[in-house]
Amino acid sequence: MEAARPFIYVGCMANTPSRTTPLSTVRDVIGSGFPALTQPDWVRAFPWVVQGTTMHDSGDEAPFDLGLFAAGSDPEAARRRWRILRERLEADRVVHAQQVHGAHVRVHHSNRTAVEDPHLVDPCDGHATDMPGVILAVTIADCVPVFIVDPERRAVAAVHAGWRGAACGVLERALHEMASSFASRPEALHVHLGPAICGMCYEVGPEVFKALGQPVPKRPTPIDLRNVLGQRAVGAGVPNDAVTVSAHCTVCTASGLFSHRSGHDERQVGFIGVRA
Ligand SMILES: [Zn+2]
Repeated sequence: MEAARPFIYVGCMANTPSRTTPLSTVRDVIGSGFPALTQPDWVRAFPWVVQGTTMHDSGDEAPFDLGLFAAGSDPEAARRRWRILRERLEADRVVHAQQVHGAHVRVHHSNRTAVEDPHLVDPCDGHATDMPGVILAVTIADCVPVFIVDPERRAVAAVHAGWRGAACGVLERALHEMASSFASRPEALHVHLGPAICGMCYEVGPEVFKALGQPVPKRPTPIDLRNVLGQRAVGAGVPNDAVTVSAHCTVCTASGLFSHRSGHDERQVGFIGVRA
């Protein structure tokens, strides 16, 4: 077994590589079993992984809103839908946390059967595990769900990354946690930047470009946050042909996704786990 190359987490600073490499775009497809948008290459390559992003009509009752903390959400109804999600995914527990646009990533070592849906842990924006039967879940509605697979160690991670989390290095932190907990090597990892607001729809102020270490425009300008995150993954050692970007946009493609910028209060869930 090869030793993990040390990966140093640099904390809350802009460190997007200046050199950019083209990333592959893939169209997530609706998976069989549970209707969610799934990275199609991973279905074939990693049959031991369950991964996807829920949609407006993923459950029997639409909208399939899984938001527990958003304004206007109904936590009791949402918890029923979380239970449906766990049962349909045949998982022992679905782990989730209130998200705070930070860089904290929690590693989960228990696969005890859930006593609540979802199994809530203290606030954080990323999760990692190598425990079969544990599903990691982040809620999104424009922000980027980042999915990470380590085929060598059979470990996975899910990250919620808006521009603040990206600027704080939440993706790099997830890679660091996988290296320290599972001996994951960055060059063995696969990263998918899931359904999120696209580089044409996401207009932000100059301060966002600055925070992300990008050339700063004079006026509000669209930014491709998934490309920024993908470049960071490559900069951290993930092979660029192992980084994919979803073709789905929460705003401009008809994908049945909630969009905060489009006025939706609801949230979809990006999930990943090792099959039980
Ligand atoms: Zn778009």
